[in-house]
Amino acid sequence: MKIIIASLILFISGLSGVQAQDFSDVQITSQHVRDNIYMLFGAGGNIGVLNGDEGFLIVDDQFEPLSAKIEAALSDIGDGNITYAINTHFHFDHADGNKAFGKSGTTIVAHENTRTRLRKDVLVQVPGFDTILQEQYPLEGLPVITFNSTMSMHLYDQTIRVIHVENAHTDTDAVIYFEESNVFHMGDVFVRYGIPFIDAPNGGSVSGMIAAANRLIAMCNDETLIIPGHGQLSKKADLIAFRDMLQEIWDRVAVQVSNGKSLSDILDSKPAKGFTGELHADYIVILINEELR
Ligand SMILES: [Zn+2]
Repeated sequence: MKIIIASLILFISGLSGVQAQDFSDVQITSQHVRDNIYMLFGAGGNIGVLNGDEGFLIVDDQFEPLSAKIEAALSDIGDGNITYAINTHFHFDHADGNKAFGKSGTTIVAHENTRTRLRKDVLVQVPGFDTILQEQYPLEGLPVITFNSTMSMHLYDQTIRVIHVENAHTDTDAVIYFEESNVFHMGDVFVRYGIPFIDAPNGGSVSGMIAAANRLIAMCNDETLIIPGHGQLSKKADLIAFRDMLQEIWDRVAVQVSNGKSLSDILDSKPAKGFTGELHADYIVILINEELR
């Protein structure tokens, strides 16, 4: 768990310029998930892979400088080009590879808010770290197919449901469900490093994260496999534990807000006690603002 947090911090703190980062030591490894679905680990968010006989659909694409390594890892799984790449959201550690794959002909699919944000310079403020400038993407790195609420794709013997969950990790989130195989990729709406990063200035909210988790739990059964945005392949019980953590922290803060406690009182009470990760003051401000809304 510590390793995941450390690597997250590394990416976040080093990212005044994504291209300035050294990816030469990063290795892309793969894991079979179920049927023709795989996941790739490397730097940044997990990549979901649907292997067709004549091409791939991937979910998220990590960093542009890793594109050759990602293609090499895919060639160990099957043949063909990357036909489609779906972005789970606009953050650089999930979508930077668009710049390489879009240029080489991959059709990029995302929520319409992802496209809107990628077209501009965007500040990403991770609590406890410097603000990161994510510069606007070139035209070839932008999604060419966008959706609003839900969409479906029919490829390689799979029905692929692409579902927008509102104001969760950001306001750009897409969750992907491979229906025949009962496999999800949830992007950063569900992560395994502990207390999640919620990008409130870019439309995320704690209440939206909880609402999204509840909606997705209702779609899962005990056989469902879940690729999280970061961390290991997971199951419904892990998503329930994640939702319970968010709800517990929320409840601990909410009761103090309604009792008129100050920010420093709330911080002193350590509302994230017992959970992995740190609850920064900025985070509690987000919670208080939502509670008072
Ligand atoms: Zn993210």
